[in-house]
Amino acid sequence: MSYDESLDFLYEMEKKHPELIKIEKIGTTYEGRDIVLAKISKNVETADSKPAMLFTGSIHAREWVGHELALKFISYMADNQDIDPSLEKSLTESTMYMVPCLNPDGYEYSRQHFSFWRKNRRKNHDGTIGVDLNRNFSIGFTKQSNTSSNVYGGEEPFSEAETSAIKAFVDSHENITIAFDYHSQGNVFFPAHKFMHEAEVDGTDMNALCANMNDEFAKVTGRKYGIHRGKPPAGLISGSGREYYYSKGIIAIVAEVGTKNIPDYMKSMSGSINENIPALKHAFSEVINYSAVAPKRVDEFTIESRDATSVTLIWQYEVRDDIFFEVYRSTKDKDACNERTKVGVVGGMSFTDTDLSSSTNYHYTIRAVNKTTGYKSPFAPVVKVRTWLEDDEFFKLIFANKSGTGYVGEFTQEQNRSHFGLNSLFVGINKSRGICDAVMSFDMDSIPKNAIIKSARFYIYPMNRVGAKIERFGEWNLSLLEQESFTEVTDFHEVENAKSKGVMGRAIQSSKLTQGIWNHWSFSKHECELLQEKIDKGEAVFRLDGPKTLPDGEDSQMMQFDIGYGQYGGGIHYRPILDIKYTLENEKIKLASDTRTTISVEKVEEGLKSGFDKEGSRVYGYLDFDLSQLPDPQTTMITQCALRIRNNNTFKTKSDVRYYVELVEVDEVGTYEDIKNREKIEYIGYEVAESDMGNKECQYFKFDTLSKQVLDAMHQEGKKLKLVIKPTSSLGMKNRIVEWNDDAELVIKYIPKRRTAVAKVENLKISKENKMIKLSWDKVEDEALTGYYVVRNSFHTPNHFMDGVKIYGGKDTYTYDNFASFDKEKYYAVFAYDDVPNFSEPAVIKYNPLEKY
Ligand SMILES: [Zn+2]
Repeated sequence: MSYDESLDFLYEMEKKHPELIKIEKIGTTYEGRDIVLAKISKNVETADSKPAMLFTGSIHAREWVGHELALKFISYMADNQDIDPSLEKSLTESTMYMVPCLNPDGYEYSRQHFSFWRKNRRKNHDGTIGVDLNRNFSIGFTKQSNTSSNVYGGEEPFSEAETSAIKAFVDSHENITIAFDYHSQGNVFFPAHKFMHEAEVDGTDMNALCANMNDEFAKVTGRKYGIHRGKPPAGLISGSGREYYYSKGIIAIVAEVGTKNIPDYMKSMSGSINENIPALKHAFSEVINYSAVAPKRVDEFTIESRDATSVTLIWQYEVRDDIFFEVYRSTKDKDACNERTKVGVVGGMSFTDTDLSSSTNYHYTIRAVNKTTGYKSPFAPVVKVRTWLEDDEFFKLIFANKSGTGYVGEFTQEQNRSHFGLNSLFVGINKSRGICDAVMSFDMDSIPKNAIIKSARFYIYPMNRVGAKIERFGEWNLSLLEQESFTEVTDFHEVENAKSKGVMGRAIQSSKLTQGIWNHWSFSKHECELLQEKIDKGEAVFRLDGPKTLPDGEDSQMMQFDIGYGQYGGGIHYRPILDIKYTLENEKIKLASDTRTTISVEKVEEGLKSGFDKEGSRVYGYLDFDLSQLPDPQTTMITQCALRIRNNNTFKTKSDVRYYVELVEVDEVGTYEDIKNREKIEYIGYEVAESDMGNKECQYFKFDTLSKQVLDAMHQEGKKLKLVIKPTSSLGMKNRIVEWNDDAELVIKYIPKRRTAVAKVENLKISKENKMIKLSWDKVEDEALTGYYVVRNSFHTPNHFMDGVKIYGGKDTYTYDNFASFDKEKYYAVFAYDDVPNFSEPAVIKYNPLEKY
């Protein structure tokens, strides 16, 4: 629509729906056009008294989609206001303010004269034309001398009619809680960040809002947008509208829609608009939850404890009958917080999430809900936790090595070598580079040779998608290369033709490649076996490749992945990661029993028998084992245990007798009473039926998980293992006694694994050096020490090595926090770890901006 058509449409809508829509003029442009804002709300006269969302479109002239989307969304709201109950609710309790086009002069110039025009149409003092309106707001405003630049921000903040109009409106409307500024292109959200790299308390709100909108997009087009936050942006833009709105306490987000500024309407722009309508409807429904009537945010949301399969979360809130809490969980970074991810609805201030997978990263968020009104609170900052290992498990995070990681381009053979360790990974195809593949190499030396890989995940961070354009075609595949099939990883043809045993995990479709959100592949069992073969080779080399051909009219289909290094790298924590969970080949030991006794009503005698005597009373067999023959419990983990036993006699007639083995606590076995009144600790868990005893040479009583844990505890406490074989029958058996052979033995499988962490770090100190916060601590003197893990959390002390932003992992006894602000309070924790890794108790220190360091 032209701008005039757009105005006609808006006034027409106002005429048709006077109760719902009111059009207001908020300013006049340089060329004399009206800048208009549509207020949309049930009983629109009361609009300004309700919490509101602000939508701004096409502040950049050539980015047409914002304008078009606004008009379509206004139609949608008018048509569905009495049909869709959730929309009706939003329109009743909230207001939508929409400026379909904040740059009418530029927009018309782009439509009629030069489609690539971005700025407004003001005449600058030196005769050049135009100011980039999205650099003309006050927050971080920088004055530039080059007025012909496409990002020239004007003489001073709000020098332009368009920006001062929206400023005046926002300043006089404190009811705005959420603002979306619609741009193109990139299919990515850019939430506000206050020019800081640290987490803000409402960072999770913005990520969750975008992620929930992603779920709406996915229903329509299968697409998810990137969410570019939580990682240092390469260049922070100055004087943007978004940062101005955010400075007023508004949740402010830029949406970059589509893959071209002015796309094929039927093929692309219509899809972008269709997917954004339900997404905007969702965002609109959240407006009330950020207003004064919403419950307040949950405080001190943190991890109380975790083991291999469960996590317990705790938080603080005033005690109120009308409040409950919703807990959301995902294994993905920046995932939605909606019905799909909701795992708990609780009244108290703790929640235990069960049946989780071991050694897996989980992300949790929480919000309070008012039972009466249904209004929800903002989110507590996300909590990240990694479930603990099972007894026989270890994990290793292996980062891609620098020299073996880079991309190779078909037309860039001369430079391919220089990409390694320096350039982020370009994967796909474009006109100048040709086909491009990434190569990522991982040293496998840190994994023991006798490791058995139980699971593996491959993480990679897609970046800068605005520059690396992605249309909706093609797929990206990860494969594990056979080292014998190539000699030089920097040669395009060798890499392209290298052999692999197939693709790992599932291919990632173009629509699922979202910048700013970690992507991961989970390996199947077969793929884990392929990876395991690489342990002996000492290195695993992966190839990531994308589409190999370009359809007519397209010039690029290229994604860029971070390697952590180089000019645009996000730091070493953004390297590709191989997350491996493994166990070790078991060692086996057989223990002979120390004593074997039979206890019946009549007597206590040597030898092992059990059954029923002639009166029908039970005859118990008792045997014990000396566990001190096992290796040191501090470095040994029992993985399996079974009592192996043979019977010397069988019976001709059938019976229902079954034998149980119990772990018992008895001081001595002097009398029948001692055994009858025994303290039972645990059933071993497996029973043997007499009817099975004839046809097997040996009987195995296998220890179940709980009895194995008891055995493990006894081993640590240096106790004797005491077992009683107890017969049972429902038929009242008499005179039926099994004689067990004296060669009964305990078959124990175990692995060498450290049980407890190394000591906690001492003397953790903060200082300032080179304009950075520096942390230092004393070395932990222990041969078992593998390294230190340093975490920053802006809200609470990190209880867990995953609970915050990783600052450092390695052997040094100091680290710098390059991205920390001096002005913001925060907590640091240092964990010392061994090769399991077991993590020590955290050494914690608080950074106080008022203190001198
Ligand atoms: Zn833009």
